[in-house]
Amino acid sequence: MTAYGGVEAGGTKWVCAVGTGPDDLETTSFPTTTPAETLGRAAAFFAAAGPIAGLGVGSFGPIELRRSSPAWGRITTTPKAGWGDTDVVSPLAEAVRAPVAFDTDVNAAALGEQRWGAARGLETFCYVTVGTGIGGGGPANGALLHGLRHPEFGHMRIPHDRARDPFPGVCPYHGDCLEGLASGEALRVRWGARAEELDDPGAWELEAHYLALGLVNVISVLSPERIVLGGGVLKNETLLPLVRANVRELAHGYIDAVELGDGVDAYIVPPALGDRSGVVGAIELGRDAAHMISI
Ligand code: ZN
Repeated sequence: MTAYGGVEAGGTKWVCAVGTGPDDLETTSFPTTTPAETLGRAAAFFAAAGPIAGLGVGSFGPIELRRSSPAWGRITTTPKAGWGDTDVVSPLAEAVRAPVAFDTDVNAAALGEQRWGAARGLETFCYVTVGTGIGGGGPANGALLHGLRHPEFGHMRIPHDRARDPFPGVCPYHGDCLEGLASGEALRVRWGARAEELDDPGAWELEAHYLALGLVNVISVLSPERIVLGGGVLKNETLLPLVRANVRELAHGYIDAVELGDGVDAYIVPPALGDRSGVVGAIELGRDAAHMISI
């Protein structure tokens, strides 16, 4: 059977896989250290795993994904130390000697959920992750959204009531953008506790309010048929119901859709693939890369 390769290139860890889908993946993962060491470990994994027909890479960013650009395949302006202007694709392409598809980590995760998970059959939906940072992506009318560069859901500006919450935010570019106020890093800095140790109900109410403001913006602009909401911060079980209730309240009945009323529980959903959306989606990018050259 034809196998494909996938890389979920995260800012904290990388997951590499070979296989055809969620049921037969051979995977490995390792922390994101220097570019040379991290890319070297990925290349070594694929060299040992045997031939693949295509490789998909879903990467943290920002990245250059315009095929027409000489910088295609690179991480560009990331604040992550040592990773600015890093060529991710070339060393991997050399290791696998197969066509490579390159996209954002969240677009890859969206593709995984579309083919195998919580967004099957949908053509316009969003995958949003709330972890160390906040990211979002997905297809519009069937094609993964790119555009000027690619969507940056985490850096949208949202209302910030400094009387209720004087916290200035942690985004090095914007301070109090959505990621600056509501990412796992923002929680850690604001409350002095990691998300998994934070049990102040007021903290989670504020978190849900910010995430809902972001999601209502996304809903207003893209009209997604569903929102798949994942990431480490969502492991707090009180958060998703609070987000749904806040979205419903903020939407305020304007959009005449059951999904923003009594059907909200089926509209904002966790990823069906759990933590594996990204790597499964990367495999799907690899499948697409292989088919693109054979058509
Ligand atoms: Zn920002």
